[in-house]
Amino acid sequence: MSRPQQITVLGSTGSIGLSTLDVIARHPERYQAYALSGFTRLSELLALCVRHTPRFAVVPEAGAARSLQDDLRAAGLSTRVLVGEEGLCQVAADPEVDAVMAAIVGAAGLRPTLAAVEAGKKILLANKEALVMSGALFMQAVRKSGSVLLPIDSEHNAIFQCMPVDFARGLSSVGVRRILLTASGGPFRQTPMAELAHVSPEQACAHPNWSMGRKISVDSASMMNKGLELIEACWLFDAKPSQVEVVIHPQSVIHSLVDYIDGSVLAQLGNPDMRTPIANALAWPERIDSGVPPLDLFAIARLDFQAPDEERFPCLRLARLAAEAGNSAPAMLNAANEVAVAAFLDGRVRYPEIASIIEETLNLEPVVAVDDLEAVFTADAKARLLAEQWLSRHGR
Ligand code: NDP
Ligand code: MG
Repeated sequence: MSRPQQITVLGSTGSIGLSTLDVIARHPERYQAYALSGFTRLSELLALCVRHTPRFAVVPEAGAARSLQDDLRAAGLSTRVLVGEEGLCQVAADPEVDAVMAAIVGAAGLRPTLAAVEAGKKILLANKEALVMSGALFMQAVRKSGSVLLPIDSEHNAIFQCMPVDFARGLSSVGVRRILLTASGGPFRQTPMAELAHVSPEQACAHPNWSMGRKISVDSASMMNKGLELIEACWLFDAKPSQVEVVIHPQSVIHSLVDYIDGSVLAQLGNPDMRTPIANALAWPERIDSGVPPLDLFAIARLDFQAPDEERFPCLRLARLAAEAGNSAPAMLNAANEVAVAAFLDGRVRYPEIASIIEETLNLEPVVAVDDLEAVFTADAKARLLAEQWLSRHGR
């Protein structure tokens, strides 16, 4: 029997990381966790190492590494602990590794994800921010290394499943007219506009259908998540921003649709559980059990659709503008959003100010070409600085 596929899970302590390990553990004959990374939840990382016995674990700094190494030894494990971005890049590119789950949140995931791409690994891409920041360079690197890029974001995984069969093997999206990107509308879809200034981080993180990390939960509430996904879809499926239409679908049963020129519209449906796209990407082009219960259409009974209201969701408008501007604009949008969301989660800014911070940041800095990774990180750093300046100007 062939050896199980060796999987590196970057961001193993997060929501996607844990769902990935749940699917892996259901199929020990097919998959083995090779390396796991954590950032702040290090006792959880220890427990995951005990459960999944990876060859490597990665933590952010040397002190934490020593302490985890001691604990692992005491537990009788030979897992080796590596440190920092260098450690993440090493386990992403390790010759023993077959596939890398890129599930670190935010810009911090870009370098390790690119290291996996450059090493030609099969990439299970959850870290949408990496693609938003550096789309052109990222896709160039994918083509150059021959890496297979499989989307984990539920909408993009749905679109991928509705694309022509050989799409992932490099064929173009021939015959596709539009991509219909569904969105639940989040917890504030119907909240009176006047109340939005007073909503708390806990309310923003209480997503009606999905259980996710805190940053993406706030992004879902503001619909910046859908904006980032619009940009992500353009890169993954070689589409123009004008070909991607956002559709509010509060039940989160249809995960997205593809509209073909002959009038056929293909959709992928399922319960809102990330183990479905994770299992789909892990096993692609085969299918495996994900642990997700079958969809009960009679219990769902109806599916609703609405156009998004850009006054309620200004972040969606800002993301579309950044998608159209291209170049450095998406990296700046993403960086300003990361600063604004962190400040909102810290209780330093009100929810509607997230959009104000991003809009002012984008207005202050001209869009420039980004020809290399350094230019991407320069745009990212500029936007972070401008967003921080907004915070100090407003006494936060
Ligand atoms: P979580 O916040 O739950 O997990 C994030 C992971 O990244 C954790 O393992 C965390 O470590 C690690 N991490 C955080 N900051 C850093 C850093 N600076 N350096 C290295 N590691 C870091 O997020 P999610 O799992 O929800 O999301 C992960 C990614 O997947 C995001 O890009 C998100 O947009 C995307 N995604 C998530 C979906 C979901 O359903 N959750 C759906 C679609 C996409 P620790 O916990 O130890 O601090
Ligand atoms: Mg999504």
